[in-house]
Amino acid sequence: MISVDAHVHFFTRSLVSDTMGRWISIMRTAALAEGLVRRDEKDGSADPARLVELLDTGLQKSPSDHMNAMDNSYGPGWAYVPLMLDLEYALDDELEQSCITACPERKDRRESESEFQLRRRVWEKVERAWKTISGDALETSAGRLLAQGSFEIQKKDLSVLKASAPERIFPFLCIDPRRQHRAGINAAELTGDCVGPGRPFAGIKLYSATGFSPTDPALAGPGGLYSHCSRRKIPITVHFSPGGFATPLSEVQVRGDIFYPLTASVLPAEEVYPGGVVSFGEKMTPGNIHDAVAERQMILNHPLLWEKVLALYPKLIINFAHTGGEGQISLSGRCPGTGWTSWVLDQARRYRGVYMDLSAYSGDKARLRAFLNRVRAAHPRLRRKILYGSDYFLTSMNYPEICQFREMQKEAAGNWWTDLSARNARKFLSGGIDRKFLK
Ligand SMILES: [Zn+2]
Repeated sequence: MISVDAHVHFFTRSLVSDTMGRWISIMRTAALAEGLVRRDEKDGSADPARLVELLDTGLQKSPSDHMNAMDNSYGPGWAYVPLMLDLEYALDDELEQSCITACPERKDRRESESEFQLRRRVWEKVERAWKTISGDALETSAGRLLAQGSFEIQKKDLSVLKASAPERIFPFLCIDPRRQHRAGINAAELTGDCVGPGRPFAGIKLYSATGFSPTDPALAGPGGLYSHCSRRKIPITVHFSPGGFATPLSEVQVRGDIFYPLTASVLPAEEVYPGGVVSFGEKMTPGNIHDAVAERQMILNHPLLWEKVLALYPKLIINFAHTGGEGQISLSGRCPGTGWTSWVLDQARRYRGVYMDLSAYSGDKARLRAFLNRVRAAHPRLRRKILYGSDYFLTSMNYPEICQFREMQKEAAGNWWTDLSARNARKFLSGGIDRKFLK
């Protein structure tokens, strides 16, 4: 039986090709650098060379290079689910460079002097690291020659890759509902054209913290994306952790609901923000990326927003990627009911179509094993709900060889491994692919 890595990225320089992409690459780099520096501050273990290598991988490789790199590391018998990322609406032109110039200021009284000093040190180190990296990797890349259109380039690249290995590549198309509102491209129709058996894409990727609501009418409204996917059993993968990436904008216009922190409830954006223009308190600047991402993830990607989606479309086939994130996975045994991880476990028991993946988990193996044991003990149905995913190549900071990541997960999973790496993904993907594949 073929094994499946249900969460990989075959990004190319197209993601950093135009002004917006370039800005995103700055943010992504700064975010990674910030994580690295924070770890360095803690135990001195960070290695900046790995960050440069990571960037290099993204800038130099083509999708088929990525696939070959995975094959070389994993060995034979593997299929991949490369997820697109649509960042074209995540920011606007005026923001370019702004994140790397602003020196952090002291926040209000919530921030202690030592927290502020740490943030300042992180900022100074990121500034220095960024100057080296941008000189090395980005400025010298031919990325900008490709001009705009990262979405179309990724769509084409992955369609070509699919055609070259139809039985081993099952790409997911990234949908941003703002493409429907601003460019008139209907999300459900686009999905009908590109996704499903006999088509290049096997499923949908959503990343709401880039600046939209999971209940946006283009997704959750009548005739919208969820209704289409639900009827045809098209699988959806959503980013699901308080970390990762988020729109760097300080204000975004949102259609649909948001999680409103003041009342800790789900409300229509326009009910609490004039014109639905949500404004974030945390600025996306180096030294503050962690807090800024967490705030945007909470407002735009909160579990209660997805609870509303599931109540409306209980038959959705949906994977909550990262299972709430490694911090929450490690904690989930101690504070049931409060974390994102506990929430996914509850939904997976309730809804037949709810899945989760363990991609990007780079924490302690023993804790992962303990988590998996708790999941198994909690309910027999959950055995079928966890997918193996690596988040290649973004995991290379911690695991330079992707097979090292796989071995860690395999050891943690023990005799559950065949379910995670083969059976469960087959079930999850089944509505989106030709029957003859994944036998
Ligand atoms: Zn990912």
